[in-house]
Amino acid sequence: MARVPDRARVVVVGGGVIGTSVAYHLAHMGCSDVVLLERHRLTSGTTWHAAGLMVTFGSTSETSTELRRYSRDLYGRLEAETGLATGLRQVGFIEVAADAGRLEEYRRVSAFNRYCGVDVEEISPGEVKELFPLARTDDILAGFYVPDDGRVNPVDVTMSLAKGARMKGVRVVEGVAVTGFLRRGRAVSGVRTDQGDIECEYVVNCAGMWARQLGETAGVNIPLQAAEHYYLLTEPVDGVTSELPVLEDPGSYGYFREEGGGLLIGLFEPVCAPWRVDGVPEDFAFGQIPPDWDRMAPYLRRAMDRVPISHDAGVRTFFCGPESFTPDLAPIVGEAPELANYFVAAGLNSIGILTGGGIGRLVAHWVLEGRPDADVTAMNIDRLHPYQRNREYLAARTVESLGLVYECHYPGRAKQTARGAKVSPWHHRLVERRAYFRDVSGWESPDWYAPEGVDPTVTGLSWGRQNWYGYWEAEHRATREGVIAMDMSFMSKFLVQGPDAGRELDRLSANRVDGEPGVITYTQWLNEGGTLEADLTVTKLDDDRFWVVASDSAHRHVETWMRRHLADSRAVVTDVTSGYGQMNIQGPRSRDLLSAVTTADLSNVAFPFRTAREIEIGFARVLCVRITYLGELGYELYVPAEHAVHVYDRLVDAGRAFGLRHAGLKALSSLRMEKGYRDYGHDIDNTDSVLEAGLGFAVALDKPGGFIGRDAVAAKKAAGPLTRRLAQVLVTDPEPMMFHAEVVRRDGVPVGYVRAASYGFTLGGAVGLAMIDPGRPVDQEYLDGGEWSVEIGAARYPAVVSLRPLYDPRSERVRM
Ligand SMILES: Cc1cc2nc3c(=O)[nH]c(=O)nc-3n(C[C@H](O)[C@H](O)[C@H](O)COP(=O)(O)OP(=O)(O)OC[C@H]3O[C@@H](n4cnc5c(N)ncnc54)[C@H](O)[C@@H]3O)c2cc1C
Repeated sequence: MARVPDRARVVVVGGGVIGTSVAYHLAHMGCSDVVLLERHRLTSGTTWHAAGLMVTFGSTSETSTELRRYSRDLYGRLEAETGLATGLRQVGFIEVAADAGRLEEYRRVSAFNRYCGVDVEEISPGEVKELFPLARTDDILAGFYVPDDGRVNPVDVTMSLAKGARMKGVRVVEGVAVTGFLRRGRAVSGVRTDQGDIECEYVVNCAGMWARQLGETAGVNIPLQAAEHYYLLTEPVDGVTSELPVLEDPGSYGYFREEGGGLLIGLFEPVCAPWRVDGVPEDFAFGQIPPDWDRMAPYLRRAMDRVPISHDAGVRTFFCGPESFTPDLAPIVGEAPELANYFVAAGLNSIGILTGGGIGRLVAHWVLEGRPDADVTAMNIDRLHPYQRNREYLAARTVESLGLVYECHYPGRAKQTARGAKVSPWHHRLVERRAYFRDVSGWESPDWYAPEGVDPTVTGLSWGRQNWYGYWEAEHRATREGVIAMDMSFMSKFLVQGPDAGRELDRLSANRVDGEPGVITYTQWLNEGGTLEADLTVTKLDDDRFWVVASDSAHRHVETWMRRHLADSRAVVTDVTSGYGQMNIQGPRSRDLLSAVTTADLSNVAFPFRTAREIEIGFARVLCVRITYLGELGYELYVPAEHAVHVYDRLVDAGRAFGLRHAGLKALSSLRMEKGYRDYGHDIDNTDSVLEAGLGFAVALDKPGGFIGRDAVAAKKAAGPLTRRLAQVLVTDPEPMMFHAEVVRRDGVPVGYVRAASYGFTLGGAVGLAMIDPGRPVDQEYLDGGEWSVEIGAARYPAVVSLRPLYDPRSERVRM
């Protein structure tokens, strides 16, 4: 008798904590026609040996914090539902800060986490000692304590989830391996197993560290990599009881909890070891990796110094098991761009247990409702690029990934590994200009430029003003007062061509994009719920030719959205990102500079704001678009790659007379933030209605034919004043810096948090965009009627909050 059914609505692959959680939540959302296939036995992959820390503190992502809180709550109530305990023990959790950088980080994080509902408080070294008497505390500055956190038993959690799923009708089948996938057209239509095929509507690949190789059989890009991951178990130690809280000391690479009367000492070493880059063996079940004592001994010693008695304890085992890591340390979740209805939930970066409940809920929503119920911009599978699946890339990047978990997360820290994968046509010229590069979706992109005679290096990371602060300021001011050149070749660029291109793009766009040729339009793409899918520009080059530009991280999302929606029309999408360099010439003197290298008439009358045309520069023809993301008169030049250096040299030669400076992405962030220009995935996301995002001005509600999401926008508008709105926040004290996740208060009451921030050199203080969500109408009267402040670290600073851009609110400078 076949052990697998012929068909099911959803097939979940993998019986670890993630697969069982997805199945559980699908069933609890009413979809019980689900089969979960596990090749060996439930938990036999990574889940069985996880340390089981259950921690809600530590993330500045609202989504991640919510997933943690949800998971903890779920693990607390599962036993009542299924009769199987999860082993949740809320013994408390303490994070210690032993240096100033971490103290600042945890103060910032704890303020944000409290806003998200995490009960965390800062405690003194003495209080740490009281809670964890075996810890050395004379060298620490503070602890951050969450009384309700603690630990679970990962196997018990998984078994309880599986039982909860079965109780709702899910078939959980062990001993069946998925060997491939069936497809019908552009969508998955079934799975192939070693015991026959199963037809289905949806697949969810929860195959843990095997997910990458399994995905490859369906052409799906899942760039994760297994790495060695360690903990040491000691023999029983006097004074270690089951009531001992979990103690984490990232500065010493270690965490501690009780296990069998002894200590479990877990490690996150700064330089780690990828495991089986060529592929994880299929028969690896309940497996271990022989520990590399020589490599790990220095880190282990350092960790043990935090609890000195551990040096004297007998070693029961030094355990090494594999866990999957991803290139940016965020999970890989969502529908594959390559294959419709093929979902992935893998690459958990060592927090699969403590977020597993939430991940399952989120994926179940995404599958059954077509949209996730949280901001997924940072974890969406489509943020990742195919090159990131290269073995050499994964081997190089993974060395850094695991250690980043415990690094102090200083702002602006650039990834050091797997660099140089993509360079713009101007790269070597910009090296000569002393650019400091950072990895932008793999592109080496100038962040700032060092002055002549100075090496472009970061000399010390901090939460304050770093060594490049002055160079950044000079670039910012040059843009406001003179003219700058900014390489933005990492932007994704698409040509959309064909007789239906205009009509179809108009259907996708909330704004009117199919008007006169030679016009660029800023627009959002919405889903049927009226929330944001993309934020981009569409330039109509001709009646049947359009130029679509989006950010690097939105590249594959935008491309997939277009390809899926335009599939049955006479419109062809071509990714031309690699074919064109993008150089932005911006600032009040940009017209003068460009006029010196082209014969085109650039006067305001002949070439007004929001127009585009091909112009001649030297021997080349260049698409010149008059638009700005920095808030000044400016132009974006799209230069065929083979002409790029030639055009650049002409610009730089002519630029000497106009004081042309080069400017990097730091300047981009401060300039755009002063003007309140949005950045998808940073300050706006898939949970925001276009109206809440403050982008109603770019919505053409009345355009003939409508657009996707129109009805939802109209309904929201009709429902009355918005109670949730994105607003600009300016700190009036010029000293403090904001980066992300600072809590915004009105009359002392938390009403939102800063989603992205920078320093406004022109406005004279830290400036950011915050979602204000007080549960009552957010209008001018509300803004004017309260005292505003922002919580930065342990202090609160007065702030100005505005719905209109604080810099050039009437946009006179961009139109001059
Ligand atoms: C030493 C260590 C300590 C850790 N400590 C913690 C912690 O304290 N807290 C925390 O939150 N996380 C921790 N983690 C991380 C956590 O264990 C993982 O994130 C989590 O278990 C991943 O679950 P998963 O379901 O994605 O993968 P897995 O548990 O590996 O499940 C994947 C399953 O898919 C099955 N499978 C693969 N291919 C196929 C196929 N073709 N057909 C059918 N089945 C297939 C596998 O057999 C496997 O059972 C730790 C990890 C390690 C290594």
